[in-house]
Amino acid sequence: MKLLDGKKCAESLVADIARKVAGYEESGLRKPHMTVILVGEHAPSESYVKSKIRSCESAGFEGTLLRFPDTIKEAELLEKIREINADQTTDGLIVQLPLPRHINQQHIINAIDPEKDIDGFHPTNFGRMTLGQKAFRPATAYGICKLLQFYEIPVWGKHCVVIGRSNIVGKPISIMLSNDFDIGNATVTLTHIETPRELLLDETRRADIVIVAVGIPGFVTEDMVKEGVVVIDVGINRLEDGKIVGDVDFENVKKKCSWITPVPGGVGRMTVAALMINTLMAYQNNFDLV
Ligand code: NAD
Repeated sequence: MKLLDGKKCAESLVADIARKVAGYEESGLRKPHMTVILVGEHAPSESYVKSKIRSCESAGFEGTLLRFPDTIKEAELLEKIREINADQTTDGLIVQLPLPRHINQQHIINAIDPEKDIDGFHPTNFGRMTLGQKAFRPATAYGICKLLQFYEIPVWGKHCVVIGRSNIVGKPISIMLSNDFDIGNATVTLTHIETPRELLLDETRRADIVIVAVGIPGFVTEDMVKEGVVVIDVGINRLEDGKIVGDVDFENVKKKCSWITPVPGGVGRMTVAALMINTLMAYQNNFDLV
């Protein structure tokens, strides 16, 4: 068994980005700039946002965190997004999810300029990605692709089973890996909460690659996978003792794996790295650098 080390891969990708940014700055351009909006106080969001801003520093980006109280009205937040959309000095904008219940998440996502939508959640980017066109790809799914690429894990023609169909992870990764992309051309089965247990087991037991994003600690067990499988654990679950675990029974499942991601230090790190790649792309688009 070998570890798919998201930390190592992310550091390498961010170092590449930092080199490119240094070159752009030498030629007189400003730094790429990511703005993150955080509404209310939500401990996991606080830590995700901190790691995004920290990663901006490593990449040589400017990172701005805008905080708003959870009493902010939807209309006020939409107005703020319009201001940032119009601001030429911001390349990428993230609104950290989840949002308070009184704010309609889809209204907020739809209000972000698709050219600044580095999370890749706007329908325009999701549609372009689905059609195989140039797009900001949803960051977690894109990060998984970059991790598979970094470790030269064969994907073409492989049987991949995705567990979980969220718009931010399961759905986009199933589309990306089945598309005719460089990291794609797999045969993908997308499973979800309504997939009968027997069918799920049939699929996972013959899968070459299993990707799980369900939010249930220990969901994928040793008996669910075949020898030599590649397992990508997207889950981030905080246990009562404060420990962070994924959706895979890591200690037992790893015995059968050729490759497996740890939690933490796997997909989470890659999500942030993918956001950096998307921000650089937004910046390059702004300055016609590609
Ligand atoms: P979600 O929480 O929105 O939905 C869970 C999904 O799991 C649903 O699609 C549901 O159909 C499926 N599911 C639930 N029970 C199931 C079962 N018994 N069998 C098959 N499918 C089942 O999904 P999400 O937002 O993708 O989050 C999933 C996990 O991934 C969470 O732990 C979350 O914290 C984590 N996450 C991690 C990252 C990262 O960067 N590592 C990013 C996003 C989400």
